[in-house]
Amino acid sequence: MAKEVPKEKRFGLEVTKKKEMDPRWLEWGEVGRAEIVGYEIGTAEEGANIDKLQKKKFMEIWRPFDFIYHHSYGMVSPFFEGLLDKKLMGTRCPKCGDRFMPPRANCWRPSCKLQETEWVELPLRGTLHTFSIMYFAGTPFLRLLPAVIGYVRVEGCNMAMVIFVKEVDPTKLQCDMPVEIKFIDEPKGDPTDIYVVPAKGWKPVEDRFSWDEEGEARVVRNLKSTKEHWDKIYGKDRPMMAEVPE
Ligand SMILES: [Zn+2]
Repeated sequence: MAKEVPKEKRFGLEVTKKKEMDPRWLEWGEVGRAEIVGYEIGTAEEGANIDKLQKKKFMEIWRPFDFIYHHSYGMVSPFFEGLLDKKLMGTRCPKCGDRFMPPRANCWRPSCKLQETEWVELPLRGTLHTFSIMYFAGTPFLRLLPAVIGYVRVEGCNMAMVIFVKEVDPTKLQCDMPVEIKFIDEPKGDPTDIYVVPAKGWKPVEDRFSWDEEGEARVVRNLKSTKEHWDKIYGKDRPMMAEVPE
C-alpha cells in the first residue's frame, strides 16, 4: 500500500500520498542512451513459407533503451486511486442517472450537455458481454499466455470494460454469463489490478452458443500449443491467465 508522505510540491501537484519510484530507474536512464553495447552475427532461418525456410546470415545488436512514462490520470484519477483501496469507482450522471464503467468525467448524452458526473462505488459484479482467447499479445503480456480478455458490463452500467478473465476453462465461457470482479493482492493503480472470474454457482447454460465439437477441439489444441511455446521461453512456473484443459 502507498504510504503517507509530508505535503510537497512536484510538477505543480500538491502531493498528499505517494509510492516512491524504484531508484534503479535513474541508473538505467543513465545507461539507456540507445548506444550499441553489444552484437552477435550468426545464421537463422528465413522465408515466406514455413515449410521452405533457408539459413541466412544476420546481425543482431543490443541497444539499451528504456523510459518512464510520467503522466496524469486527469479527471478519472478517483478510479485509479480506488483500485489501490480495492474499490471499484465509477461515475454517474446526476441528470439522467446513467452509470459509467469505465468512468466518464462527463455524461455522454447530448441532452445532458456534458454534465459533469459524480463518483459512486460500484458492485463487484457484472456480466461477460463478449470475450476473446489470446494466443499472442504485446510484450508485457507474453508471459501470461494463453489468456482470455473479456468485455464486462459492470452491474448497473451501460458500457463494457476490457478485463482479463481467469479461473475458468476458456472452452466453457459463454456470452452474458455472470462474473465476479476481483483484485490482485497488491494493486498498483493500473487497469490490470482487476480481473473477473465466473460468479459463484455459475454453470454453463445449455442451448446457448458454444463451440461445436470441432471448434472446441481446435481451441484446446491452440491453448496447449500456446502454453507449450511460452513455457519454453518463460519457463513452466509462470502466472498463466487461462486454464489449459489437460
Ligand atoms: Zn446524463
